[in-house]
Amino acid sequence: MALRNSQYDILIRAYNQKQLRNKHELNMRTQKVYAQIPRIEEINHEIASASVAQAKELLSGNEHALIALKNQIAELAEERTILLLRYGYPEDYLTLPCDCPDCHDTGYIGNEKCHCFRQATIDMLYTQSNLKEILREENFDTFSFDYYNNTDENPITGKTAYANMREIHTYCKQFVNRFGDSCENLLFYGGTGIGKTFLSHCIARELLEFSYSVIYLTAIQLFDLFSQYTFENEENDGNADEMLQFILDCDLLIIDDLGTELSNSFTNSKLFYCLNERFMRKKSVLVSTNLSLEKISQIYSERIFSRLSSNFTLLKFYGEDIRLKKKLQSKRP
Ligand SMILES: [Zn+2]
Repeated sequence: MALRNSQYDILIRAYNQKQLRNKHELNMRTQKVYAQIPRIEEINHEIASASVAQAKELLSGNEHALIALKNQIAELAEERTILLLRYGYPEDYLTLPCDCPDCHDTGYIGNEKCHCFRQATIDMLYTQSNLKEILREENFDTFSFDYYNNTDENPITGKTAYANMREIHTYCKQFVNRFGDSCENLLFYGGTGIGKTFLSHCIARELLEFSYSVIYLTAIQLFDLFSQYTFENEENDGNADEMLQFILDCDLLIIDDLGTELSNSFTNSKLFYCLNERFMRKKSVLVSTNLSLEKISQIYSERIFSRLSSNFTLLKFYGEDIRLKKKLQSKRP
């Protein structure tokens, strides 16, 4: 995947800043430890000169001397660890801290781009920073069952909205926990304002934390991207192509509010293409919609309906409109 040069530069600059920040942090820690435990400063100097000696012996090929130096360095390092622990520091306090232990914040593992670079690219192309703000507010920790009625039973399921939501919530947590082991797709359906989008945010947040790549798009945004790709292909700078690859390839694609787009043969064929490609690549999809299953079967082609009903775990949401409830509550004196 080739980013535009300017975008690539911005990402690399961010990685460099991260490395600088971490080096600075390590410097601060080192000064603090040296002031408190002077022996550690001595140890570090001794390790440094032993390492220089080691490099010299490597050239001369003196095996005995090399082994002796190696042992000396190991002993010094052990003494340093013991001292750190004795003073209440973690064992790795004097190793360079990093956000991504896999690439040590370089963005690369060997010549390959690290998973964190991939997510950073997605963030950039989809301005997911916006989503990140939302995810700070809407996640499993902030999810509340208070808005769900626990007295009236649904005549069809025999369950209250509260009990139903408990089950869905548990299911979604399991979905996150087994993500990566199996490829599973979810369809959230039911009326407006009863937690479908909120719960898809919970899942997105959790998977992003585990370094999975997640793309969240409303159906309208998704089809907009497809039409840009189709109609502006000649003039675009390659970004639409990349976006399309991400849409087909990311670990989880969330399509929110399916059914709010203007449905026609174009959206139908693109939706089928998108679902089908992702199934073949064994990548998960989460679709949420206000439409009933019956409506879905009327609006979308037979083959889309059959994909949705057979390849997805169907989770039906019901209850009262939470957004409305919240609004009414906030208006009370
Ligand atoms: Zn990384």
